[in-house]
Amino acid sequence: METQTRMPVLFLGHGSPMNAIEDNAWRRAWQRLGETLPKPRAVLCVSAHWETRGVGITASPQPETIHDFYGFPQALFDFQYPAPGDPQLAQDIIAKLAADGVMVHADHEWGLDHGSWSVLSAMYPDADVPVLQLSLDSSQPGAWHYALAQRLAFLREQGVLIVGSGDIVHNLRLWRQYGDTPADWALRFRDRVNGLIAARDHASLCDWPSLGPDAALAIPTPEHYLPLLYALALQRDDDRVEIFNDDVFASLSMTSLSIAPAN
Ligand code: ZN
Repeated sequence: METQTRMPVLFLGHGSPMNAIEDNAWRRAWQRLGETLPKPRAVLCVSAHWETRGVGITASPQPETIHDFYGFPQALFDFQYPAPGDPQLAQDIIAKLAADGVMVHADHEWGLDHGSWSVLSAMYPDADVPVLQLSLDSSQPGAWHYALAQRLAFLREQGVLIVGSGDIVHNLRLWRQYGDTPADWALRFRDRVNGLIAARDHASLCDWPSLGPDAALAIPTPEHYLPLLYALALQRDDDRVEIFNDDVFASLSMTSLSIAPAN
């Protein structure tokens, strides 16, 4: 059997769906990842935009491009990302997790939402890497997600790139009130989280409600924060963590992580 190097793990702050079609520094960073990381056999994306009761994994051979937003230009609704699925890999993951006592169901309805295609279309513009999505049961606490994600570690050894896609700071309700100015609480929380990531204090990050009022403003609902925990849970002792796209605008952050074997 071919020896696989351990794949990196990513958390990507995806921000606005417009990042799928606009040229900017964030998107260029995603493009560079696609050019520089080892080419994966498949991507497993945990997107903020697929929440379910229980956990599902996409299992169709050709997932459709879902346009799960409104009020954007027609070009965004016309955007297609025709990456194939990988039904066999989905079944393999379901079987592996079932052996660990974790039930995940094969989903044939969901396709690729903009949490996955906005970033993956930059990384793999030829849509030649199969993409699966794993859903978020956001009724579950942080430690539960972290434990589930740890069970996905075997995929790193099999050429699968695991990508969490969300935003660590994500408060759309307060968005207009700040205009172009980063909210002071958003900057503070960004710095706090980055410090905890650097200290590898994952327990505190899993228990974000205990991080105080800045956390409550940054994470009014958990779905955009939870994908971060999936990436952190897969960090090994000999991995290096790099933070990039570390920008805050208004009440959102683009902060992203690359977790990869240290050279
Ligand atoms: Zn989003």
